[in-house]
Amino acid sequence: MNFSVRHQGNVSEPRPSGSGASTDVFVVGGGPAGLAAAIAARRRGFDVTLADCSIPPIDKACGEGIMPDGLAAARSLGIDFAIPGAHPFRGIRFCGRGESVAACFPHGVALGVRRTTLHQVLLDRAAEAGVRMIWGARITGIEADAVHIDGRRAPARWIVGADGGRSLVRRWANLNAAARDTRRFAFRRHYAIAPWSEYMEIHWGEAGQLYLTPVGARELCVVLISRDQHLRLDDALPAFPAIAARLKNVPLSSAERGAISASRSLKSVCRGNVALIGDASGSVDAITGEGLCLLFQQAAALADALAAGDLAPYQAAHNRIVRRARLMGRLLLLLDRYPLVRWRTLRAMASHRHLFSGMLAMHVGELSPLESVSNGLALGWHFLTI
Ligand SMILES: Cc1cc2nc3c(=O)[nH]c(=O)nc-3n(C[C@H](O)[C@H](O)[C@H](O)COP(=O)(O)OP(=O)(O)OC[C@H]3O[C@@H](n4cnc5c(N)ncnc54)[C@H](O)[C@@H]3O)c2cc1C
Repeated sequence: MNFSVRHQGNVSEPRPSGSGASTDVFVVGGGPAGLAAAIAARRRGFDVTLADCSIPPIDKACGEGIMPDGLAAARSLGIDFAIPGAHPFRGIRFCGRGESVAACFPHGVALGVRRTTLHQVLLDRAAEAGVRMIWGARITGIEADAVHIDGRRAPARWIVGADGGRSLVRRWANLNAAARDTRRFAFRRHYAIAPWSEYMEIHWGEAGQLYLTPVGARELCVVLISRDQHLRLDDALPAFPAIAARLKNVPLSSAERGAISASRSLKSVCRGNVALIGDASGSVDAITGEGLCLLFQQAAALADALAAGDLAPYQAAHNRIVRRARLMGRLLLLLDRYPLVRWRTLRAMASHRHLFSGMLAMHVGELSPLESVSNGLALGWHFLTI
């Protein structure tokens, strides 16, 4: 049986789901975006109800890296991922065609966190904050001032669509118009092996990228991202012989799980009393590793807008939050699409390592717009002259 549990401090009050009680903020979807939005709204004093059709802890194919700017954004919501289950890494390494270039984050470290652990941390934080959570319950429609949960009506002043890349709330609120929409295909698997690198590694191949995140003292998350929906990890590994050799005979610690990696930007992320957040509000390609960072930043901006009683500032903040990640996503997809550009760029960065450090600093929001332009021009120059 489904039930909702409202936790306040150590007190929890189970009550039947779909009671129809009115709430200030109804969050549709209890993935990272929904939980972050719910926590942020509770911190502003709203009564918050969240519902998800799955049962926690929810797993999903993900690269499982949270960049330093994402960790900072989560901390600003009172969410701390520095837990025993998380594994730090100090930067990013790009590898391909015998070239390799690595850079450290300008400040701090990133964390690799298994998706189920991430979900549990967020869920615990939401419970402490007093969010009413209903699991295993599907939202079947929305109206101006209510959501339909498993066919019953639950009144709500604000409705937050955090129901992922295939958001129905987005469709119901007529926010589906996308300015841009491209897709790639991803498969993820975990291997029980001690990470050999202090970096998140991205190995570039002809068919796509292998993206390796250390997520534990003896666990590595491996994701394949490509434009070919039929290409699975076992088919792709022979094209990455160094990785295939390291992973040979290593036991798997999870089953293969697939996902769509979409680059989607919407014309608008709110209408009336409905706001979208996380992948429901658009997404950047998975190769950027920025999805979680964006949704933590969006959650804080949305709570500010709700507190002001006006969603317009959220639209403006959302545009600002996603701008840099979108630009990086486009650059990385250029490398994916054009082999010549890819190899010349990798060579330019391998011989002028400060360019890669600059690119990483820009990626995590630590380079001014002027420095970003000058780094871009220098890269362009070395690209042409290498
Ligand atoms: C292959 C891959 C690798 C990635 N790697 C990284 C990475 O390394 N770092 C990073 O920061 N980001 C990464 N991302 C992006 C990140 O995973 C996403 O941005 C993030 O999961 C989005 O969370 P969300 O809560 O918006 O959506 P979701 O996690 O999809 O959650 C949506 C929730 O809504 C629920 N739901 C849907 N419809 C309904 C309904 N009608 N009623 C009730 N519930 C509903 C679903 O059950 C689900 O729990 C990656 C993405 C992919 C695909």
